[in-house]
Amino acid sequence: MTHDPAWMQFTERARDALAELQRAAAPVLALLAPQRCGACGIEGALLCSECCDELGLAGAGRVERGAAPPGCAAGAWIGPYEGGLGEAVRALKFHDLPALAEPLGLGLRSAIRVVQQELGGDATLVPIPTDPARLRDRGFDHAALIAAAAARALPCALVPLLERTRAVPALHTLGRAERRRVMDRVFAVRAGVKLPQRVILVDDIWTSGATFEAAAGALRAAGCTTIGVVAVAREALVNSA
Ligand SMILES: [Zn+2]
Repeated sequence: MTHDPAWMQFTERARDALAELQRAAAPVLALLAPQRCGACGIEGALLCSECCDELGLAGAGRVERGAAPPGCAAGAWIGPYEGGLGEAVRALKFHDLPALAEPLGLGLRSAIRVVQQELGGDATLVPIPTDPARLRDRGFDHAALIAAAAARALPCALVPLLERTRAVPALHTLGRAERRRVMDRVFAVRAGVKLPQRVILVDDIWTSGATFEAAAGALRAAGCTTIGVVAVAREALVNSA
């Protein structure tokens, strides 16, 4: 593998051009291909009604609760990542289906209400920002879209308070201590944004909680005192060393 700067710049440009082409072609391809359920793959809808029921997305959504990550006061999610919710989240992110953020965001309403109650009142939704390289590849920020759908439906305030300070490797390959080290100071609060009193962090998947912990740390350092978290799906932690 070469590290020649000119070559690397060229491959980066080629990758950007390809991503741009894929984005431009996506609406045409979507018209040609039959719509399939993002969870079970059956033809006909973005998420079929059976999956919406089964995954706890129908109505205001199902809620599961557990201990909040360090530095957070409350946490809730819709259901387990293993199964249909995970399929839907992966379809949204990796199969270029940003429209799936709408039903997933709607399904988060009950989880958000439960966390709001525990925090003591209305709270502002703050999406966990996607890594800039992944954002550039996909062309959309999935957590921001999910949070926006939930905020519109509830309704409640949403402010993209956080930004990433650097790129990080995929966390699921790392042990617990390594995850903490990698996530240290990875988030910063945007300059010039007024900090709300109560904040609920929103993400697609909650695995070790290291991402939420790091984001909450940045908010606390900026002066925010009451922080809760919600995720679409909770993933059982395999690598917890
Ligand atoms: Zn389905």
